[in-house]
Amino acid sequence: HTPQYRDILEARKKLPVFLHMDEFFKVFNENQIIIIEGEPGSGKTTQIPQFVVYSDLPHNKGKIIACTQPRRITTVSAAKRVSEEMDVELGREVGYSIRFDDMTEPGTTFLKYMTDGKLLREAMNDPKLSCYSTIILDEAHQRTLATDILMSILKGLAKRRPDLKIIVMSATLDALKFQKYFSAPLIKIHGCAHPVEVFYTQEPEPDYVEAAIRTVLMIHRAEEPGDILLFLTGEQEIEDACRQIQLEAALDPNFFGPLTCIPLYSSLPSQQQKRVFDPPLPPKTPNGPPGRKVIVSTNIAETSLTIDGIVYVVDPGFEKQNVYHPRIRVNSLLVTPISKVSAKQRAGRAGRTRPGKCFRLYTEEDFISELEEESVPEMLRCSLAGTVLGLFKIGVKDLVRFDWVDSPAPEALLRALELLNHLGAIDTDGNLTALGSIMAEFPLDPQLSKVLVVSPEFRCSDEILTIAAMLSVPNVWLRPNNHRKKADAARAFYTNVDGDHMALLNVYNNYIQNQLDVSWAESHYLSAEVLAEAHNIREELMWMMERFEIELMSIADEKKRCLAIRQALCCGFFMQVAYKGDEMGNYITVKDNQVVQLHPCCGLRTQPQWVIFNDFILTTRPYIRTVTEVRAEWLLEYAPVYYDLTTFQDGKMKKALRK
Ligand code: ADP
Ligand code: MG
Repeated sequence: HTPQYRDILEARKKLPVFLHMDEFFKVFNENQIIIIEGEPGSGKTTQIPQFVVYSDLPHNKGKIIACTQPRRITTVSAAKRVSEEMDVELGREVGYSIRFDDMTEPGTTFLKYMTDGKLLREAMNDPKLSCYSTIILDEAHQRTLATDILMSILKGLAKRRPDLKIIVMSATLDALKFQKYFSAPLIKIHGCAHPVEVFYTQEPEPDYVEAAIRTVLMIHRAEEPGDILLFLTGEQEIEDACRQIQLEAALDPNFFGPLTCIPLYSSLPSQQQKRVFDPPLPPKTPNGPPGRKVIVSTNIAETSLTIDGIVYVVDPGFEKQNVYHPRIRVNSLLVTPISKVSAKQRAGRAGRTRPGKCFRLYTEEDFISELEEESVPEMLRCSLAGTVLGLFKIGVKDLVRFDWVDSPAPEALLRALELLNHLGAIDTDGNLTALGSIMAEFPLDPQLSKVLVVSPEFRCSDEILTIAAMLSVPNVWLRPNNHRKKADAARAFYTNVDGDHMALLNVYNNYIQNQLDVSWAESHYLSAEVLAEAHNIREELMWMMERFEIELMSIADEKKRCLAIRQALCCGFFMQVAYKGDEMGNYITVKDNQVVQLHPCCGLRTQPQWVIFNDFILTTRPYIRTVTEVRAEWLLEYAPVYYDLTTFQDGKMKKALRK
């Protein structure tokens, strides 16, 4: 083994899990299902799967050990780390599998990190999950939809597969809940948490980003050496804050140690993700103050990824959450206050290596009276349409008697069934249709799945395939702070009269015409990384379409092609429709009469009478984003049941049509 391997091994042996190795082997050998609770950084994600590898149970032979993660970024980073620790090549003995990206080698890979969503998809095709010997559900306390459903599925499967071992891992007290749910033994890993002193603000902060930047600089100027972790909510906010902190720190050179600000969020390119583990810069002069690292992160750093050396935590008290808006029946990401459990987790990050400090940018009264005790599981706040479709696919019929970890509200289930029925995925008796069965195969929202599956009827499946891929990746438009005008001009090239879906198609086609060239993309203010991902996704979806014999078709005539694409989109997104309310740019959603506006980034050249939209976002006001013009008569034609029965009993549609 290499010297690097030995160094890593020494560090690993100091992790708290190693003190529980004997206990682990004993409990794991004697039980089919076990629960493990341990604070972040104790070594659960990286070490427990390796323990299972070395447990060398007979049942392991020829089968795979799976370890799930809620996020793609931590799935990949854990697999990379463990392949280094085991001194093997990533993608061979140790691999990972996330949606649209599989780094495993059949026959060779015996330890596979994967997203919870990916394992759930596999369960649809093979309900016995027969290629796995042990399934580890990690970060169960995050209560993502997919992990919650997997818990229910695995609990049932355990009876039918006595050879299957199941481990549920959690970073918080939720472990007790899981222990009860599975009636399984609990291993508690005691960390070596140091005390963390918590500070509150005297008054509420009107601008939490500004307050956060100010606090980071205050710590850098006044506090002892030690790295800082700042929690913000999303990519743009994080990038802007990093830039500003770096700028302001550069204004006081020679007084304080060198400061490096490193962003961390899910869509960050993987080479840049690794930077969070780099040591801080050395002092500028031999006896000068040491360098300091500032990590500005989403709640990935709350429990999923532990960065050693953090002594100070700055917690503004917000996160982005996927929330369902019952009024307009759309999911969207919203900045929301965190829960008390989250706040405590965040503070805990400061005490991993030595006593630390946590600066909460809210008042103590707000902490006590305003924050919820714990976060609401995703199951209870999201649209369940995709989940319900998946459950039908694996043969679950009785949703009410399904063994939920936390039962969703009956009306949430009803709404999901209603949408699936309107999409034609289930019939009025609640049976999965042939169309629904194929829709469930695609790793897309049911609406988009439907559009893709029916697109050959419109002879535009080639284009819809591209649009589906482009809707599955993060934002492709770059808008660097010091080049905003140029970036906007580059983007304006793609504005058109049809809508944003056509713009996405055109961007992708131009990228292909330019041979997937990185410098072409960047000089046009497009993210080459995101485009490359869209390209991979497109290939993957195309391969799936071939498997289900969905033909790739395209219309030569440009005008006709464009019409066909917009009509096909109506077949899936007929519930996400708005019409022009006045000349001031207000639109009204058909479902619930909500007043919305086209998002400023919308590339429509006109303000059409009727539009479909891909997402709804609430910032300073409600916006709809990724918008395309449609015609009212298409909606009546492609979603007649929905429009006749549900929405326009009062004749609103007819009135609108007459206009
Ligand atoms: P847990 O899952 O209990 O939160 P992990 O197994 O993720 O703990 O991490 C154990 C230790 O390994 C932590 O100290 C963490 O900082 C370190 N670690 C994990 N991944 C990496 C990496 N890619 N590079 C360096 N250190 C890492
Ligand atoms: Mg972990």
